[in-house]
Amino acid sequence: MRMARYNLPRGMRYSTLQERKHFYTQEFNLPKVQQWLEQHRGKVKFAAVIGRHTKIYPEKYREDAGTTIIIDDYKSLSEVRKYMVDFLPEATYYDRNIYDSHDRKTGQELAFDLDPENITCPIHGTLADKMRRHQGLGFCKLELELVKEQALSLYEHLEAQFSSIKIVYSGRGYHIHVFDPEAYTLSTRKRREIARKVKEKGFKIDEWVTAGDMRLIRLPYSLHGLVSRVVVPLGKEELESFDPVHDKRCLPKFLAGRATS
Ligand SMILES: [Zn+2]
Repeated sequence: MRMARYNLPRGMRYSTLQERKHFYTQEFNLPKVQQWLEQHRGKVKFAAVIGRHTKIYPEKYREDAGTTIIIDDYKSLSEVRKYMVDFLPEATYYDRNIYDSHDRKTGQELAFDLDPENITCPIHGTLADKMRRHQGLGFCKLELELVKEQALSLYEHLEAQFSSIKIVYSGRGYHIHVFDPEAYTLSTRKRREIARKVKEKGFKIDEWVTAGDMRLIRLPYSLHGLVSRVVVPLGKEELESFDPVHDKRCLPKFLAGRATS
């Protein structure tokens, strides 16, 4: 069976360097970032990827465009912003690991990652079909809708076990973060077990994130430069009406003035 190729939903496209610069100088909301990170115990490490997928990067960073650059030497979030304005990254992350003063890992924030490419789509097929067409990063509006339903349903599933849960629109799909104190100290074995059980329930999560092998997660309020959307936390009640193609909450200002439909 021949599956359709992707175009990203309209208005979802790579951000230019100028747009990234506009975002990180004018729009990157440090008080909100600060607020988000208050849940985190210990000093936060940030990370930036300048141009791995987009191949869009400042010329001076040609050599490092595909590298994950860890930012742990900073005094304030303003300084972190300065790095971003200099790097103009396509993606910004933070490290979910908790470290003690000797930089030893003492715990990790528990998170779940739901991406639209993992959704089996009636038009575009399974992830394997998408990979065969080298479209593992593509997605469509239907997949966006289906992944949102999964996020809501996973949130409700997790509510039985945890009490401090947040949903984040990641620019593509959704992340669910758990801030219950006991979730930080779960063993790797226990995390794998949680991931396995959630998968058995039919949720198309990325196990690497939940098990902890992938410690970086997209920073809320940063710019997802592959789709030109702002990563935003959403309340459960906000999720139902949320539409990442048109929603003002996730449209960077450099797009907000333009029609996207
Ligand atoms: Zn599709």
